[in-house]
Amino acid sequence: MQRKVKLILSVLVLSIPLVILNNLGVFDRFVPEEPQNSEKQGPVSLPVVKEVQMKYGLPVDSFELIDNVIDNGESFSNILLNFGIDYAMIHRIATEFKDVFDVRNLRIGKDYTIFAENSDSVKVARYMVYKPSAIDYVVFDLRDTGNVYLGEEEVRIKEKSISGVINSSLYEGLLEQGGSPALAVELSKVYAWTIDFFRIQPGDYFKLIYEEKFIQDTISVGMGRILAADFHHNGRSFYSFWYDNDTTYRDYFDEEGRSLRKAFLKAPLDFFRISSRFNPRRFHPVLKRVKPHLGTDYAAPHGTPIMSTADGEVIAAAYTRGNGNYVKVRHNSTYTTQYLHMSKFAKGIKKGSRVRQGDIIGYVGSTGLATGPHVCYRFWVNGSQVDPLRQDLPEAEPITEDYIESYRSFMNPLKDRIDALELPLEEPEDPKVRLASLHS
Ligand SMILES: [Zn+2]
Repeated sequence: MQRKVKLILSVLVLSIPLVILNNLGVFDRFVPEEPQNSEKQGPVSLPVVKEVQMKYGLPVDSFELIDNVIDNGESFSNILLNFGIDYAMIHRIATEFKDVFDVRNLRIGKDYTIFAENSDSVKVARYMVYKPSAIDYVVFDLRDTGNVYLGEEEVRIKEKSISGVINSSLYEGLLEQGGSPALAVELSKVYAWTIDFFRIQPGDYFKLIYEEKFIQDTISVGMGRILAADFHHNGRSFYSFWYDNDTTYRDYFDEEGRSLRKAFLKAPLDFFRISSRFNPRRFHPVLKRVKPHLGTDYAAPHGTPIMSTADGEVIAAAYTRGNGNYVKVRHNSTYTTQYLHMSKFAKGIKKGSRVRQGDIIGYVGSTGLATGPHVCYRFWVNGSQVDPLRQDLPEAEPITEDYIESYRSFMNPLKDRIDALELPLEEPEDPKVRLASLHS
């Protein structure tokens, strides 16, 4: 009953000759064969091949397609009753195929398509395809005794590049050049250990080669991986290359084979504003007296995920009047970190839990002594509290001598491609030109 269509083609597969793929039935479009008689003179008339258009594995040409969105108050039965389907069929689909897809799970705002035939000038649905996500779909076969099965759109990965000068923020710089918010998040993760994105300098720029996922060839359904990047910051290029050699490495490295990953994340959140720095002589805004601030406050909206900045063991997940809900993580004999004022803990976080770097341990709140939603991040080195922003923290292992040559031969062509990307020209803004035009 359940047919799961899963055709994920990588860029590599696309280089296989079309004929082979065609024989495998991968393409729904048929490539005409070369004419057999090579001695033919004059214009060769190729056989006319009609393209069989398929959508969701169904032949499009045989039906009238009606695209729609699940409306408020609409149900599976009232959609199909409008398309000539009787209660018996609706009931059978809703009960017999409940394990494949429960029709009560249709959600407002999701797309569906009716494959209809005209019968006595009435449109009669033969199939209904419901799309719970960009990639997944559910086919309701309304012919004969009915059937329901799940499918996935064929996802193709394309390599894309983007570059730009950063005038205000990296986020806006990427968006200006047509990048997506997801790309900005990915880039900030690649450089989470290296660059403080809130200290962007004039003249900083970025160049990226990344993967984007497409369905039906043109509809973008999200980001793949960033394959290579140059983040030019403060007059220096910070390169990163995704290296996966199937055995030892699966990570980002720079042009020398050094890891971009450090033992600690720069911050326990992705996007934030530092609202109060480590300060042993700070005036406390709630207590109205000088009280040392032995942490760094990161302001962020209520509910923002808080990550453990390194691997370790949770040694406390508790509540006190001052700290509110807090988590304390012991990383090794040297380092311990603590995260205060959480609205709640992440699922499974309790004393004794093991966490990996970047794991979500809780969510931003303002429990305990806090004036607004933020996380107070505290950092211990050998038992004393220090300012993590002033620590020279250890880096992860670089690529070893055994592998460095194969890394270089992988990385160098990528680096050449990144270096060859041109920066878009900025709009010329010469004040003299503007004044001249005003005075003429
Ligand atoms: Zn604090």
